[in-house]
Amino acid sequence: MEREKLRELAALIYPTRCPVCGEVIGANDCFCEKCTEILIRYEGCLDVKGCAGGVAAYEYHPNMSEAVMLMKRGVMGNAPFAFGTELAARIREAGIEADLLVPVPMYKRDLRRRGANQSLLIAEEVGRRLGIAVDGKSVVKSVETLPQKELRRAEREVNMRGAFTVTAPEAVKNKRIIVVDDLCTTGSTLAEMAAVLLGAGAAKVYCACACRAVEHKEEEENNG
Ligand SMILES: [Zn+2]
Repeated sequence: MEREKLRELAALIYPTRCPVCGEVIGANDCFCEKCTEILIRYEGCLDVKGCAGGVAAYEYHPNMSEAVMLMKRGVMGNAPFAFGTELAARIREAGIEADLLVPVPMYKRDLRRRGANQSLLIAEEVGRRLGIAVDGKSVVKSVETLPQKELRRAEREVNMRGAFTVTAPEAVKNKRIIVVDDLCTTGSTLAEMAAVLLGAGAAKVYCACACRAVEHKEEEENNG
């Protein structure tokens, strides 16, 4: 377990912290004990248009907003390790078999601003755990979109339409692919990813996200 040893050494300089509350934890732990008790495992199956199946590690909860928001601002810490480890376990439990992991890409200007794509880092952890290759290059986000959280369901679908382009179709052709994302609310981003991958010849597309958020009731009512 060379990697575990490396993490132990790294933790001597930068202690591993719980991504939710910041408490110092063991070098190879995901969350602190207290947060592990509070976090809600997502037990359902992610139903996303175009996807043959899907899993999420956790239900998004106000308690974990710091962990997700920090990742979205480029402060990664232990979050990709923790979410990737849990997500790999869910994929294994669900019996999903795949040839390739494809993270939801970021628009290049956003990537420059943030420094790293959290979905790619989560996918890399999943890939290490399951022995599946990660392809973070063959699909790009070619159009800048508005932050999904500011939009309602119908607007989200329109916002994401045409946002992604498969630049290397030969890399995804006939492959069973798991699309990896950090946070999923309506599933419009994952559905759009599935559509472009299937359009490029992917055999099957699954989805996996770290956290599954439930839409606000008010929004649903407004949507009829
Ligand atoms: Zn904690």
